[in-house]
Amino acid sequence: MRKRHWKNRKNRKCPDCSRVIYYTRKDSFDRAVGNNSVCKSCAQTDRKVTMETIEKMKQPKTVEHKRKISYGVQKWWDDKRELDWQRLDPNN
Ligand SMILES: [Zn+2]
Repeated sequence: MRKRHWKNRKNRKCPDCSRVIYYTRKDSFDRAVGNNSVCKSCAQTDRKVTMETIEKMKQPKTVEHKRKISYGVQKWWDDKRELDWQRLDPNN
């Protein structure tokens, strides 16, 4: 009956920078492990790089192409939003 040993286990290392990420919820933790998600600061770096890449990609394309790309980005962010780092607020 010792299922509640999560108290000290809800943290993991960021796969990018090896910083320890703390989780307030087991489900967040599980999802993060499943997604191999990075820490907040790496996620932001990721975003910056992605946006720059998109700006470059966009330029020679038609409007229709742009729409498709921004839809893809939206989708990507919807997936990203599923990650737990939004729940890292210690007051949560
Ligand atoms: Zn990181």
